[in-house]
Amino acid sequence: MARRVLILGSTGSIGTQALEIIAGRDDLEAVGLAVGRDWQTAVAQAKGFSVGTIAVADEASAAEAASSFDGTVLSGEASARELIGATSPDIVLNGIVGAAGLGPTIAALTQGIDVALANKESLVIGGELVTELASATGARLLPVDSEHSALFQLIENEDSHAIDRIVLTASGGPFRGRTDLEGITVEEALDHPTWAMGGRITIDSATLMNKGFEMIEAHHLFGTGYDRIDVVVHPQSIVHSLIDLCDGATLAHLGYPDMRVPIAYALTWPERAEVPVERLDLAKVGSLDFEEPDPDTFRCLALAREAGQSGGIAPCVLNAADEVAVAAFLDGRISFSDIPRVIESTLDDVGSGPARGFDELFAVDEASRERASEIISGRS
Ligand code: MG
Repeated sequence: MARRVLILGSTGSIGTQALEIIAGRDDLEAVGLAVGRDWQTAVAQAKGFSVGTIAVADEASAAEAASSFDGTVLSGEASARELIGATSPDIVLNGIVGAAGLGPTIAALTQGIDVALANKESLVIGGELVTELASATGARLLPVDSEHSALFQLIENEDSHAIDRIVLTASGGPFRGRTDLEGITVEEALDHPTWAMGGRITIDSATLMNKGFEMIEAHHLFGTGYDRIDVVVHPQSIVHSLIDLCDGATLAHLGYPDMRVPIAYALTWPERAEVPVERLDLAKVGSLDFEEPDPDTFRCLALAREAGQSGGIAPCVLNAADEVAVAAFLDGRISFSDIPRVIESTLDDVGSGPARGFDELFAVDEASRERASEIISGRS
């Protein structure tokens, strides 16, 4: 029997590559697709993969989809969650961008369904609550983020006591080596050197906030303390992450940057799939470079580490403020170097404290967005 896969965010970069993998395999079957508003692509994908039910969050787009699709179209903000109930998948690939991905992760885990997690915000915001929920229902979180997939593969066969330290690699983004981030344009920030990704994650990579989120994500996925999570800048993005073991050995995961590898690993785990990617030729690569990150210039990395260490609601505030600040930067309302300033002020104003439940996190998310927007209006 084929593994039944539900794809949330099927028209995005992760979703389309996942469908490419599913197309080449008999043991994987797409059973549902959820999108925000790109109904034309979703309907075309559903027809191509014989998917009977799709979810379109935007209601006007859902109405358009319903008029040109024979299957079922779920509509509205809760439609991605409803789709999980309607299609009973074996695994949910969550490729939604931002805080909007948390609700569907909770819905899948609550029903005991494994989640292939590309939505890092689920763990940045939901942290302990999400991992507790997964262990309570026995559902698995299979990382799709390339660094975490690498770590997952490295850690899988090791005793957790044998792992001294995990090291996340960071490309350093387009501004690596700069010590002044004033005057950066949107075009410059969107020009990522090694990974082709969506708009928000590309800006988060340029500020290094993405790596900050990934530290928090790693902390929750692997239960590793922040004092044992390091970041090293590695511009070629060939080494996807490393672990240091108690006997002095360091294990690394290598390959050309290609998201089909981590997506396939999450979807076919514990098996390994044949993936038609270019095989690594180290002689051709020539040399691999590594350097210390610069958290004084790239303030977002320091802010994320601090928020992670405070725990509770702080990472939720961090993420909400970042989403609002990045959108404002992309709109030309604030400068690139304002992004960490907006986030830091929001963290100061909203404050910290324990996260007692998901409802509280959703309320904190909303309050943080409001506060970040006010700070931005005061600035522009
Ligand atoms: Mg990553």
